[in-house]
Amino acid sequence: MVPLATIRKIEGICAKFIWHGGIHAISWEQLCRPRKEGGVGLRSLVSVREAAGIKLAWRFLQGGSLWSAWMSSRYLRGRNFWVCDIDNNFSVSFKHILRNRPVLRKAIRRKMREGGETDLWLDPWIAGQSLLEILGPQSDGVEYRGLTCRRIIRGGVWRPEEYRFTAQLGGEIRQVQITPDVLSDVWVWAPPGYTEGAGEFRFSSCYDLVRSHFDKIEEYDFIWGKGLARKMQLSAYKLVLDRLLTRDRLLRFGVPVPDPTCVLCEAENESIGHLFFQCQVAWSIWAEQSRRYLGGVGRERDFREILQWIGDGRGRGQSWARRARLRLAASVWHVWRERNRRIYEGLSTPLVGILHNIESDVLVIFP
Ligand SMILES: [Zn+2]
Repeated sequence: MVPLATIRKIEGICAKFIWHGGIHAISWEQLCRPRKEGGVGLRSLVSVREAAGIKLAWRFLQGGSLWSAWMSSRYLRGRNFWVCDIDNNFSVSFKHILRNRPVLRKAIRRKMREGGETDLWLDPWIAGQSLLEILGPQSDGVEYRGLTCRRIIRGGVWRPEEYRFTAQLGGEIRQVQITPDVLSDVWVWAPPGYTEGAGEFRFSSCYDLVRSHFDKIEEYDFIWGKGLARKMQLSAYKLVLDRLLTRDRLLRFGVPVPDPTCVLCEAENESIGHLFFQCQVAWSIWAEQSRRYLGGVGRERDFREILQWIGDGRGRGQSWARRARLRLAASVWHVWRERNRRIYEGLSTPLVGILHNIESDVLVIFP
């Protein structure tokens, strides 16, 4: 198991590589979210490490290997896996396995054959809970200790009435699947929200279980929808997150900027709001796209409002919406590129040249 500090160091190196050692415009944690949740779908190594720990605990629980048999006889010595206290004498990896029990149990379900391998009192076999947990530690459970679930299964059917369970608990017990098609009682991999794989362990669902979850972003289609060139995706992504390094932002980061003026219009200071699309030059690039190919120009001069305008125009059909998003993303990318060329290379392209470049970009994608 790689130490957490090492993992964080590696992630730091990856982040530095992505940002070429410069300002980290988007945090590593944010990049590691799925695209639908505002990231670029990288995998967080911290979460991968956690998922690997769950996988190890799952393998131990499954048994059937020399390794698990050895660990079990050396450390558990007949004690129940779910309630065994962590002992200082345990190996690092066995301690790790036991620490992963709370997350592991969220991802598994008990499939019963005859109940003979399932501890009636201690195993979490009723919707992820054990009888001990359901009835509470104040109930001494003396009638259930040391018994297996075989006690309340007859002829492949639950018989909870053999004990004085409440009607509700009896109902919950009857919900637990009894399947004659397994060789013995088994744990199956069944994390919430996943149906594929029929009980087999899947790393992707395990990763999903341990990672942090965030709200869906509205602009997903605009950034990642079908048919955007990668360069356009990246500028669209940064724009949506409001992380393009415009001159006003650089100044806020304390980067010396000799002149805060917009290099496109040379009339106002540069900011995200100005470039997309208050700026007269940038605006004419987008307006030209919209007039020629989208059947008119809206009054909106703000990037988000334009996205809204495209969203409202869905009545014009999927194809129109797709074309509109592509034209918008192409305008964003070419405005940003022209701005960078003027600042860093001292080169400038006249408006007709920029429009021509957009045309050749778009025709490749949407002939
Ligand atoms: Zn401007």
